[in-house]
Amino acid sequence: MTVLPIWQSLADKALAGDLLSRDEARAVLTAPDDQLLDQLAAAYRVRRATWGNRVRLHFLLNAQSGLCPEDCGYCSQSKISAAEIEKYPMLAQERIMEAADRAAQLKAGTLCMVISGRSPGETVFGKVLDAVKAVRAKHDLKICACLGLLNEEQVLRLKEAGVETVNHNLNTSANYTPEIVNTHTFEDRVNTVAAVKKAGMKTCSGGILGMGESHDDVIDLALSLRELDVKSVPVNFLIPVPGTKLEGVRQLDPRQCLRILSLYRLLLPTQEIRISGGREVHLRSMQVMGLYPANSIFVGDYLTTQGQTAREDLRMIEDAGFVLETPDGDAFTGDPFDGVPEAYPRAPLPLVDVA
Ligand code: SF4
Repeated sequence: MTVLPIWQSLADKALAGDLLSRDEARAVLTAPDDQLLDQLAAAYRVRRATWGNRVRLHFLLNAQSGLCPEDCGYCSQSKISAAEIEKYPMLAQERIMEAADRAAQLKAGTLCMVISGRSPGETVFGKVLDAVKAVRAKHDLKICACLGLLNEEQVLRLKEAGVETVNHNLNTSANYTPEIVNTHTFEDRVNTVAAVKKAGMKTCSGGILGMGESHDDVIDLALSLRELDVKSVPVNFLIPVPGTKLEGVRQLDPRQCLRILSLYRLLLPTQEIRISGGREVHLRSMQVMGLYPANSIFVGDYLTTQGQTAREDLRMIEDAGFVLETPDGDAFTGDPFDGVPEAYPRAPLPLVDVA
């Protein structure tokens, strides 16, 4: 059987720093199932050029949950959500340190500290700065802060405290954003990402796929991230949590998730691409295949939903011949399972059935 060379020619383009045409990008998203492995092989060649066979681990801490005045339709923490989640104000520093200890134990390179809300007030912001300094004093962990909309002054204060990366997801295309949220705009989100870049910090911004958007919206989001020179790109697949506005949306299957990840690798060739929320729910038995285009995952649970156990993640990585990456970007050479418990107490919600 002759393998169509198109996917490898797209990989050649990506490796040369050239942008795929819109028709080529659409072709990736609409390819038949029997070309999926060839697509993944092409995306893996691009991934390998920058990231080798290393997998970065991030650990997510929801340091303040729920009670958010914004109306993001996908979010169980929004004021318009009736989802049954645990709601709490900013955690005490002891709890944050426990999470940092856990992140280090699981060999995560980055602790992602997230708080719900449109933008942090000064009291909460001060607590975040204190927590960042405490974590940095104890652990060799990089810190990514995800605090909502931020101005340049706030970004600089985070940098001074020791934050390496600021996350603020664009979430979807400019065109589709009004279908998802009305209490802030796409431009508001772009401005925060731009402020992070201007401060000389690492930018982290990605999206949520499967919210009813078109193929062109999927492409436009990637192009916006490329234009903003974002360095780290979390790719979430919508978990339609009961009680949220998007609870009935079912758009994805494992193969489409893999096509999206392959496209993002071809459009964002050197960026860190992280398979984020929805990995277990949407990729299911195909999870490991996502590591061919993507080079990063969250270990442990998500903001308000469960992930698989850390040992299952580590087993998946080892079984496929990938290796963990240290916080310094090297290949981890020790025993990845050393000190990793069978399971931790889990996030409060059960997995959502999207089959
Ligand atoms: S701003 Fe953040 S926490 Fe608030 S509803 Fe939107 S995504 Fe959820």
